[in-house]
Amino acid sequence: MNDLLRFRVKEDSKVNLDEWDPDDTRPFSDDKEQGRDRLQHLCSLLRDLQEVLYAERKHKVLIVLQGMDTAGKDGVIKSVFKEVNPQGLVIKSFGVPSEEELSRDYLWRIHKNAPEKGKITIFNRSHYEDVLVVRVNGLISHETWKKRYVQIRDFERTLHEEGATILKFFLHIDKKEQKERIQKRLDDPEKNWKFNPGDLKARALWREYMKAYEDAISNTSAPWAPWHIIPANNKWRRDLIVASLIADALDQLNMKYPKLDFDPKGVVID
Ligand code: ADP
Repeated sequence: MNDLLRFRVKEDSKVNLDEWDPDDTRPFSDDKEQGRDRLQHLCSLLRDLQEVLYAERKHKVLIVLQGMDTAGKDGVIKSVFKEVNPQGLVIKSFGVPSEEELSRDYLWRIHKNAPEKGKITIFNRSHYEDVLVVRVNGLISHETWKKRYVQIRDFERTLHEEGATILKFFLHIDKKEQKERIQKRLDDPEKNWKFNPGDLKARALWREYMKAYEDAISNTSAPWAPWHIIPANNKWRRDLIVASLIADALDQLNMKYPKLDFDPKGVVID
């Protein structure tokens, strides 16, 4: 657990992403083979934890995944949750808002998808886009996005006080790694479909995005909804860290299967 604390952003700290190494290999010094075994073990543990979560129907869990294009949001969902019963997962991706969504406040579409008891909800992108992409592209005023940090903190605190465990992950890759990943999408015919020319537009604004991420993370990491900055240049290590952090948080909920109001030994089946 203590080893994992290094990824957590303390409340009120001023994040400088240059100080967070996307190639950091700590705390897992495993080689790839050992890493895969460890991840498999964690995936099974997450499956078991989610089953109790569902049986107990007391807690709600929200996982927020953010990162630049190709950082591995989809990859984390595929690998970390591969053992979990799909019925216990809700995965919600947030793209460009629709007309209807834009006509409401930015948290409307988010709140509608807030986690329910017994399930793990994963946000693939989230309300953080409303202080990232909209800021970087000048879609809203400086005054508007500045106010949103407090609004987001309050919103997340409300969810937490209503029983949600919230964990937020920024998958941190560097620009060179992104170039290689985009190039692979262009070179491999089976990956061509993943290429989106819009990704190059965001890439060209890399520094502006890093600044927006630094501000968002610094202003909204809170004890009830902590941010974690995950070194994500290496995919299996990224998955290992995210899986460990989630397993750890679920474990701390001390969940129990519900007490029975009958004696299973006394049940006779004809
Ligand atoms: P992804 O890139 O996550 O695989 P898409 O290709 O559908 O998925 O891209 C989603 C796009 O929607 C991203 O470019 C993201 O910045 C954009 N987006 C998400 N939320 C908002 C928002 N609130 N305002 C504007 N754009 C948004």
